[in-house]
Amino acid sequence: MCGIVAYVGKQEALPIIIKGLKRLEYRGYDSAGVALLNENGLSIYKKKGKVSQLEDFLAQNQDIKSTIGIGHTRWATHGEPNDANAHPHYSSSENFAMIHNGIIENYEVLKTDLINKGYVFHSETDSEVFINFIEDVYKNNDCSIEEAVRLALHKVVGAYAIVIMHKEEPDTLIAARKGSPLVIGVGEDEYFLASDATPIIEYTNQVVYLDDYEIAVIRDNKLQIKTIENVETNPYINQLEMELEAIEKGGYEHFMLKEINEQPRSIADCMRGRLDAKNGRLVLGGLRDYMNKFQNADRIIIMACGTSWHAGLVAEYLFEEFARIPVEVEYASEFRYRNPVVSEKDFVIAISQSGETADTLAAIELAKSKGATIFGVCNVVGSSIPRATHAGSYTHAGPEIGVASTKAFTAQISVLTMMALMLGYQRGTLTESRYIQLLHELEAIPAKVEKALLMNDKVEKIAAQYKDARNFLYLGRGYNFPVALEGALKLKEISYIHAEGYPAAEMKHGPIALIDEEMPVVFIATKDSSYEKIVSNIQEVKARKGKVIAVVTEGDTQVKNMADHVIEIPETHEAFVPLLAVVPLQQLSYHIAVMRGCNVDQPRNLAKSVTVE
Ligand code: GLU
Repeated sequence: MCGIVAYVGKQEALPIIIKGLKRLEYRGYDSAGVALLNENGLSIYKKKGKVSQLEDFLAQNQDIKSTIGIGHTRWATHGEPNDANAHPHYSSSENFAMIHNGIIENYEVLKTDLINKGYVFHSETDSEVFINFIEDVYKNNDCSIEEAVRLALHKVVGAYAIVIMHKEEPDTLIAARKGSPLVIGVGEDEYFLASDATPIIEYTNQVVYLDDYEIAVIRDNKLQIKTIENVETNPYINQLEMELEAIEKGGYEHFMLKEINEQPRSIADCMRGRLDAKNGRLVLGGLRDYMNKFQNADRIIIMACGTSWHAGLVAEYLFEEFARIPVEVEYASEFRYRNPVVSEKDFVIAISQSGETADTLAAIELAKSKGATIFGVCNVVGSSIPRATHAGSYTHAGPEIGVASTKAFTAQISVLTMMALMLGYQRGTLTESRYIQLLHELEAIPAKVEKALLMNDKVEKIAAQYKDARNFLYLGRGYNFPVALEGALKLKEISYIHAEGYPAAEMKHGPIALIDEEMPVVFIATKDSSYEKIVSNIQEVKARKGKVIAVVTEGDTQVKNMADHVIEIPETHEAFVPLLAVVPLQQLSYHIAVMRGCNVDQPRNLAKSVTVE
């Protein structure tokens, strides 16, 4: 995790870096810091807490003008969040300063060695070891700084995106990556480096995505990229298509609320150019070359983490129902550490909003080494997973800044639904008429999400009633089981209320013991094939005096008569209900978190892009 930003050019570096760090704060907010270089030397300013606390601290310092600098917002892995562990870190001589995103796994061995050589450490981080190790290599070899970095990188084990400055090279930034993202913005006589493109977009739309094992040197206004084997590569300049307004709050109090409300548009964007129900057309460009493999796969394996894993569970129901191919949904972090049985007949789908999830990336490499075809479903264009997979489809949800995922989840489900329908049609497990009917229904989803959003005021009132609950249970069946898991996760993430999601029928095997008059139970009880069964489960909760909040299909009367509260959503095919049912659950957790005074967009201990294992 962690966000890194750097600038070199003709402008004042500090405001650019601070603004950039604010844009990257979703990646971590344990501490923030900057290093600046001017005629007074190389200075580091850093503080525990958010970027705004760093700004207050900087306001007390006068002489911080510089046209080159690096900045960091941290999600701590090694050492608690405090001023000393904040980045940037100096090397012992204070000639080098470095920012680092990632984890150095062999830092203890390196540190012991460096201590024996007389190095002194001021923090508990692996990152400070890293920069001292580079300094040591620099001192012991008669070489340039970039050569020292290159040699050092051969010896460090782990993941990193780093940017380094040296006191004696006032126009130089050296950056490298392996496993953590790094984007270079190419302006006119200036360069911007950042963990993603959001700090860059307002200055230039020309970017270079640094690859693993590459080192970028920006010196005297020139960019040079070499591999760690010292082979020069030609920087490929991509055009960014992101709009600045997409990464700003646009009048909303929180990014999460903005993103919840953006869903009619983000789902429509995801389907645009792909789905055309009237002409019976559904095309996912990324699948074109791999349709044969997909159609003839023995098995589909879905790998993901967190909310993306929930989208994967929805996809399991979709693929099995429409295309009749067996599906396994795996936590990437578990998959990679077993000895999984994977073959070239498997079609693997890796889902990740950021496209940087470390465990998913490692699971991809493992499955790839066993010959499987890997397809990525990611939101961030140019991120690592799309580049590690054979093919993929972007979700086109636009930048998601709120740490708790909302619009990325529904966009992931939209892509996966389109994949399932295409597959079912190609395999002949879906008849043409059913296929066309489903395409029409899918096309109507954005308008129905718009309608589902109108429940907001009612949801807010329900939130006010239950904001002090200590536990919540979320129950659903079939397609709505993953929705129950997602609803519970949203509540936990941002309001810190303990919540469990369960398949409704499983309640009797344990969780029912928790139910009393204090326990709110959220049912997703839409009119589908398991409606009668879920009605019985609601009765069971009511019989034990639990409080029932039910998400129901518009016009429902049966559940309405039993539940304490109902939230209506429009009717749709049961396979598409998750796209609608999750909306009021997102709103519920949002309002509860706001009422409890929680930081909705930046919940404690979390960060958005999980680039550590
Ligand atoms: N390992 C570094 C630290 O703890 C960087 C953490 C990160 O990138 O998340 O400071």
